[in-house]
Amino acid sequence: MKNKKPQNKNSFNQYWIYGGIILLFMLINVFFGSAGYQDSAATTPSKFFEFVKDGDVEKIEIINKREVRVFLTRDAELKDIHRNTVSTSLLSISNKAPNYKFEFGDLQNFENNLAIVSRENNINVETNYVTEQNYWGDFLISLLPFILIIAIWIFIMRRMSSSAGGAGGQIFSIGKSKAKLFDAKSDMKITFKDVAGLEGAKEEVQEIVDFLKNPKKYTALGGKIPKGALLIGAPGTGKTLLAKAVAGEAQVPFYSLSGSDFVEMFVGVGASRVRDLFKQAKEKSPSIVFIDEIDAIGRARGKSNFTGSNDERENTLNQLLTEMDGFGTNTNVIVVAATNRADVLDKALMRAGRFDRQIYVDLPDIRERKMIFEVHLRPLKKAASVDVDFLSKQTPGFSGADIANVCNEAALIAARKNKKSVGKQDFLDAVDRIVGGLEKKNKIVTEDEKKAVAYHEAGHATISWMLEHASPLVKVTIVPRGRSLGAAWYLPEERLIVRPEQMLDEMCAALGGRAAEKVVFNQISTGALSDLEKVTKQARAMVTVYGLSDKVGNLTYYDSSNGNEYGFTKPYSEQTAETIDKEISLIIENQYKRALKILKKNKKKLIQLAELLLKKEVIFKDNLEEIFGKRPFQKK
Ligand code: ADP
Ligand code: ZN
Repeated sequence: MKNKKPQNKNSFNQYWIYGGIILLFMLINVFFGSAGYQDSAATTPSKFFEFVKDGDVEKIEIINKREVRVFLTRDAELKDIHRNTVSTSLLSISNKAPNYKFEFGDLQNFENNLAIVSRENNINVETNYVTEQNYWGDFLISLLPFILIIAIWIFIMRRMSSSAGGAGGQIFSIGKSKAKLFDAKSDMKITFKDVAGLEGAKEEVQEIVDFLKNPKKYTALGGKIPKGALLIGAPGTGKTLLAKAVAGEAQVPFYSLSGSDFVEMFVGVGASRVRDLFKQAKEKSPSIVFIDEIDAIGRARGKSNFTGSNDERENTLNQLLTEMDGFGTNTNVIVVAATNRADVLDKALMRAGRFDRQIYVDLPDIRERKMIFEVHLRPLKKAASVDVDFLSKQTPGFSGADIANVCNEAALIAARKNKKSVGKQDFLDAVDRIVGGLEKKNKIVTEDEKKAVAYHEAGHATISWMLEHASPLVKVTIVPRGRSLGAAWYLPEERLIVRPEQMLDEMCAALGGRAAEKVVFNQISTGALSDLEKVTKQARAMVTVYGLSDKVGNLTYYDSSNGNEYGFTKPYSEQTAETIDKEISLIIENQYKRALKILKKNKKKLIQLAELLLKKEVIFKDNLEEIFGKRPFQKK
């Protein structure tokens, strides 16, 4: 921000220099070129022949077969009609300047006429042929194409860089980083207090704050300061806010830019911007560099790169990795990056010493939404009728940004109605308006869908609780997350060898989602896609890889020397293929039936759990224990 103005001035100066050079050429041309004779009086051929007849002309010079310069005799110069043509210019002291000049049409014609007039009057006019070269003029003309090309180039560069980066984009600063600097002292007032909810994430970034505040404490023990943290979460969940709060808490400068700011038309620009950014950040260290949308440069390399056109992005990424590796332990620059597509990021970014801390920033659940509402309701004049609990219930799937938007929109609606305070109905109208806007870009969960998701997840949770070998549940949520509408976290056992009954129990739990939908609503849905995918892969692996099916027997079609690919030919006969397919389908169907049976038996508890989930949106192990009692299979 700060250096924008001087940059503008700089490039302005450059144009003045160009202008100055051109002007200089012109001046030189005027003074030292043929134009020195500019002050000879103009005349016409017919007048000239009059002068010849009068015997006033001493000699003429024919310049470049185009122009005639007329030199009068000394006597003629004294005549009244010629008085004004005598040059008084300083330049003409050394050699006599012509008195007249004119252009004739055709040289042959002119020579003939002159010969006739001379002969008739018996006068001899000395005639010299002179070829004059205007060196500077020629030089300028030969230079013209280059000047034109350069001018066009500058024009295009300016257009491109300004269209890509706003007013800051100048050709002379194209390799400069476009990072915005928020200084700790002046405009960094965001602290953890402004970030509602996100307790887990806050706890994790607290460590970064401590590092920045007091790096010596850590380095004294030989520890290395972390170099980067990656914030992963849907848009609007407060990733930028969190990074700013880290800078605000630690009272350090904060450089903010977006991954797409690195990407430009020109080769090498991204890499040079990265270099420049880190140079600036190091000068102000300790500091934080925040890169939003890092997936714009951090996409896995080599994927979908058929044309080679993405080399530029790769270079940028490489430069970023180099810079991060190149930090000494005492650099104290921490890079915080944000993305909502962690799955597409290059693995190299996540390696130790780079973004080795990954912090998930999820959409808020009902309790967190309440806190976010409280933050954003603070500056509003709200009516007594406004109930925060009610509002947070009305806004499932909203991100922090959406909630901030609701509050603002509600205030605008109330103002439009000339109200003294923002009332409940204004908030509801605002929610409706935002939902309408969201429907196009975000997933909006309807009441029915929410119910289906709750029962689906409750199905998984119930079965995994009931089966000995399934992983017990830690947390289950129906807050949409990435592409899924709900999610559950389990605590898997660490196993080196897996037994078939363990695999079957897991498959049964995975099918529990669909089974619950069937048991409760007598309807199934597409919501079980990823479960089915998982189960199918597992069943196939049981049959074809681990040799766990009786019909196919103790053999494997897995070839460790060849990855897992068969190429064009299957290593088994058509008949075996049929058997394999039947076995896979049998395994899955059996587990589905088993899941149905378990859920039918425990339908009451399942419903109880699902209703709790609908109410709280997130439930933990403790809630399950309240409903189902302690899990009967305790580890010895
Ligand atoms: P992201 O970077 O994840 O896309 P931002 O950090 O830019 O999202 O969030 C946009 C706005 O949403 C913030 O400026 C803030 O007003 C609001 N917001 C998001 N999350 C929260 C939160 N947890 N607490 C308070 N406000 C939030
Ligand atoms: Zn599921």
